[in-house]
Amino acid sequence: MCGIIGIVSRSKRQIASDMYFGLYALQHRGKESAGMVTIDDGKYYSHKGMGEIPGVFDKGILSNLPGSIGIAHNRYSTTAESDKQNIQPIRGIWGGKEFWIVHNGNLVNTEKIIEQCLAKGRQPYTSSDTGAIATLISMSSDFSFEGAVKKAVKKLEGAFSFIILYNDRIIAIRDKLGIRPLCLGKRKDGFLVASESCAIHHMGGTLIRGITPGEMLVINKEEAKKYYCPRVINRKHSIYEFIYFSRPDSIILGRRVRDIRMNMGRLLAKECPVDADIVIPIPDSGTCGGIGFIEESKIADGQSAILRTHLVSRTFIEPIQELREKGVDLKFVIYDEDIKGKKIVLIDDSIVRGTTMKRLIKFFRDAKAKEVHARIFSPPYRYPCYYGVDTYRVEDELIAKRKNGDVEEIRKELGLDSLGYLSLDSAIKAVIETPCITRTSVSLTKDDFCSACFSGKYPVELPKK
Ligand code: SF4
Repeated sequence: MCGIIGIVSRSKRQIASDMYFGLYALQHRGKESAGMVTIDDGKYYSHKGMGEIPGVFDKGILSNLPGSIGIAHNRYSTTAESDKQNIQPIRGIWGGKEFWIVHNGNLVNTEKIIEQCLAKGRQPYTSSDTGAIATLISMSSDFSFEGAVKKAVKKLEGAFSFIILYNDRIIAIRDKLGIRPLCLGKRKDGFLVASESCAIHHMGGTLIRGITPGEMLVINKEEAKKYYCPRVINRKHSIYEFIYFSRPDSIILGRRVRDIRMNMGRLLAKECPVDADIVIPIPDSGTCGGIGFIEESKIADGQSAILRTHLVSRTFIEPIQELREKGVDLKFVIYDEDIKGKKIVLIDDSIVRGTTMKRLIKFFRDAKAKEVHARIFSPPYRYPCYYGVDTYRVEDELIAKRKNGDVEEIRKELGLDSLGYLSLDSAIKAVIETPCITRTSVSLTKDDFCSACFSGKYPVELPKK
């Protein structure tokens, strides 16, 4: 899970500060490192660093990134270590000329690609799957750079959305199943590409459309031209993007993520009713679903009984367990007087390891709640993701996996009075039935989603190793 951005502007104005705001808007997708590269008068300028956006860039650094075309990235490490050599954009050379690439997603055939590169005497640029892709492109022979990229992309398996910077243009590509999001936007002076439309908004643009699964879009100052777009037979959009990853104000598949989550909350209240005095959505992950749950259940709104301090951001993407636990303590404050003697129901989007939920339950028990229930607007997160989230590296820590998906066992371990999860059918229904707010509506069927972390049905075959 990473955030990627690209800008092509016709104006002479520097676009580095626009990309800074775009990256800021996508900080929820990764906070281990960030980088950007621009081109001005044929010369590339780059800056990369470990940490969150405000720590990596400042005014002086941004002013040293001239040019009106560029790409940027913030990283949440998946296939490779969280270290300096894997910070993106990654530089490659094709036909003696430089190109730069940013990637969101995760390939499942990285090892095979690396073996092929090594067999031809080429050392991959970095140990990440993005490094392998850059190497593959650099080895790909064709008359044009676009042709070389197209040939290389055909060898990739897994989830990927890319933006490549080459000369006077950027190339945006999305895998043929459309697992990870990528969208195209515009503003008066040119075109914008981003993982989510919230970044387009913060860069001063408006959303045109989602980039189609399998599409390769070449964007220069004059136009955004479809270079290649196969007939899509099968789509597999990550259902978890709608549940957790994406920012609520983003528009994906024509639908506002907030509206989808509210729908999930309504369906959850119908599927798993509970006798409680107040509903407490866990901020921010449970907020939209919680509002839907309150609306449907008619139970009193307890949002003001908890404060999210914003001293730390997402704890799920903290790489070390100790940091995750400390993060939860710093992140939430409970108003004890609102809780004492009450039957409360907590609403959250999902339970991955159970770290956050366990700590919160302790806080509410300490505040003398009469009963503590939880309702989750997704099914048990039981299987690891190999398509851009590192849960395969912590497979044995997934609480629903450890408990074989047994909700009663999960409830006992967490120490709840009752626990209910939204069914997969209802999670998908919530997306499909949310009305489109874009000019062209995107019709969906229940087969258009990857739900492997809930169902164990992986849409891209995994390597045996
Ligand atoms: S396995 Fe889960 S998180 Fe991964 S792409 Fe599929 S739905 Fe999304």
